Amino acid sequence: MSRYWSDIVHRLVPYVPGEQPALAKPVKLNTNENPYPPSPRVLEAIRAELGETAESLRRYPDPVAKRLRAAVAKHHGIRADQVFVGNGSDEVLAHAFQALLKHDKPILFPDITYSFYPTYARLYGVEYRTVPLDEQFAIRVDDYLPANGATNGGVIFPNPNAPTGHALPLAEVERLVAGNADSVVVLDEAYVDFGTQSAIALIDRYPNLLVVHTTSKSRSLAGMRVGFAFGHADLIDALNRVKDSFNSYPLDRLAQAAATAAYEDAAWLATTSKRVMESRERLSAALASLGFEVVPSAANFVFARHPAHDAAQISAKLREKEIFVRHFNAPRVNQHLRISIGTDDECNALIDALKTIVG
Ligand SMILES: *Cc1c(COP(=O)(O)O)cnc(C)c1O
Repeated sequence: MSRYWSDIVHRLVPYVPGEQPALAKPVKLNTNENPYPPSPRVLEAIRAELGETAESLRRYPDPVAKRLRAAVAKHHGIRADQVFVGNGSDEVLAHAFQALLKHDKPILFPDITYSFYPTYARLYGVEYRTVPLDEQFAIRVDDYLPANGATNGGVIFPNPNAPTGHALPLAEVERLVAGNADSVVVLDEAYVDFGTQSAIALIDRYPNLLVVHTTSKSRSLAGMRVGFAFGHADLIDALNRVKDSFNSYPLDRLAQAAATAAYEDAAWLATTSKRVMESRERLSAALASLGFEVVPSAANFVFARHPAHDAAQISAKLREKEIFVRHFNAPRVNQHLRISIGTDDECNALIDALKTIVG
């Protein structure tokens, strides 16, 4: 606290990211990073960009990331003017709050969801109302429809949801988007590549739909910070206006080269995502056999609780063994743990440790 702080800083409640422990070989299942490396083409592209002397770094990068947007548009079968790029999808989401969700009515998002949303709402002075998930942690679309009294200045939620991993079928997503024609619906598809149908197919039909993606999870590039938004060119224009009033060069040269290469290697994405999904099913079954209740997951993590053991205590005991999972001290979910899918060795280490803790 300081008298030099601006008013808004006094009121902020910053997001707290998962711990990055300074250990040689932690079993790190707490931030949903991919357990596999990015496509080998990523390293080649970074080397090519640097060349022998890193000469290219003398120059500013392309401010509109033209090559990258073209590669991503091609991958998704859309036009480049329907693609926005930012420094991680967190930055893309932040711009969406300011450019598209700040209106005179409160926005809606689930009571259990990505905890960055209320943080952005406070940063940009966007009013919000949370809508309870049902008992199975599913989004009830009817609760978001203005026709049912849920008037709003916008809607935002992840699909699959975080930290539950629960996915809403595309037909239900469409019903929500179609029923909110007067406001923007932001769909955060950070985990879509682990088995959920993307709503990108809907952007041509719904000018109020913005779909947000990241390279951090399925493309193993959390360290590069590259995220996207897909939507009607007018929505993309709004994001670009905020971006160019904030930072014209959000993506450095290496990030642009790396992400372009990652999108050009669809086979790598398919192979690594499949491995993660297979490990997810094995880990879910192993947890269930130890007595955990596991929410069916469509993401690269599982959300589970043990009816007889306190979640915070399990997390602390795992930590002593240098195994890191995520515990949220929040209403309705403070007895759950969110566990990222690791390599099979990491999943086995977790299960072995849990056998001694809850067994
Ligand atoms: C991980 C995550 C993001 C952030 O991704 P970055 O691109 O790394 O900023 C956004 N939304 C949700 C729901 C996430 O879990």
